[in-house]
Amino acid sequence: PNPVYGAQGTTIFTIMSALAAEAGAINLGQGFPDDEGPDDVRAAAADAIINGPNQYPPMMGLPDLRRAVAAHAQRFYGMMLDWQSQVLITSGATEALAASLSALLKPGDEAILIEPFFDTYLPVIEAAGAKAVCVPLHPPAWSLDHDELAAAFSDRTKLILLNTPHNPLGRVFGDEDLDAIARLCRMHDVVAVCDEVYEHMVFDGAAHRPLMTLPDMAARTVRIQSAGKIFSLTGWKVGFVSGAADLVSLISKAHQNLVFTTPPGLQLGVAYGLGKEESFFRDQAADLAGRRDLLRAGLEAAGFAISPCEGTYFLTADIRPVAGDEPDTEFCRRITTDAKVAAVPISAFYAPGSPSRATNFIRFCFCKQPTLLEEAVACLSRYL
Ligand code: PMP
Ligand code: GLN
Repeated sequence: PNPVYGAQGTTIFTIMSALAAEAGAINLGQGFPDDEGPDDVRAAAADAIINGPNQYPPMMGLPDLRRAVAAHAQRFYGMMLDWQSQVLITSGATEALAASLSALLKPGDEAILIEPFFDTYLPVIEAAGAKAVCVPLHPPAWSLDHDELAAAFSDRTKLILLNTPHNPLGRVFGDEDLDAIARLCRMHDVVAVCDEVYEHMVFDGAAHRPLMTLPDMAARTVRIQSAGKIFSLTGWKVGFVSGAADLVSLISKAHQNLVFTTPPGLQLGVAYGLGKEESFFRDQAADLAGRRDLLRAGLEAAGFAISPCEGTYFLTADIRPVAGDEPDTEFCRRITTDAKVAAVPISAFYAPGSPSRATNFIRFCFCKQPTLLEEAVACLSRYL
């Protein structure tokens, strides 16, 4: 086997979801909503599945959806994309990431990752024969040190992967960080691959600002989105890649060998959804912010110290006040089996052997019914 995949274990999400199921625990580990998603978006997809088309759509995606992705980018961020050459439909953001990283990297290249990071990035980078250079975020505010970031760039750097809003931390990178990243990309002629799957899950008046909209970044940025996240339909696995035509064309070559295309009925459901009125996106974020507040208040009352959370589905909790020096992985297992509430350890989001690895934080998912969040908090409070 390829040594990278040959040595790979099972992802933390699968491990914790299995443990939660076995223990009969409330699963606040893996990030997925506990409802079925918007009725009208599902009805649009169902209609397309019944009435067609059901045969292979074009490799780049159905024109209706590519037009809708371009229109969405213009509506929310004022971006002008040519839907034919600058938008590619993928089978989820996961495939978009795999296609982008494997198309852009060659053996010997370096890719900068900001640690902690979503778990699929590193194996794909390494399987391409490239090397990940990690820059840590520093707790408790999970701040980015711009000198450390600058020092990570070398003449072998091909790309930087930026995930904002950030999984697992729930941070939204602000203007100072974005400006610094863009400046370094321009200076070193580096491509930015931007995982923006939580773009609409941003709270408290904060705004998501795509790196692609910064000066001179349009030509060197790949933006990755997920309809699964935008519409709370995580099982759908419909993603989008947008960017400069030469980058999108290159990435489409990887896409055509990975999956070639993505189910047409789901594409049409998503095309319908992207046209929904602005209040849909706003209300969804406001609703999620309320759930975040509910969970945060309960976890704080139970003794956890909670990191700032400006976006995503996730809250990060420092476990030291309730668990002392117990490692996050042990603590997650213990609360799953004994308190009947599952979470995921933040240490799972670091490169193996990383000197920056934090072992005293865990991630809770709050995109769940308020009654379930209340029940989870009650279980934890009783137990701790
Ligand atoms: N990136 C991040 C940061 C994520 O949290 C996820 C989780 N779903 C993905 C990518 C993958 O998205 P998709 O389900 O569309 O493949
Ligand atoms: N993105 C989700 C999370 O971070 C789940 C990803 C997965 O199960 N692979 O929890």
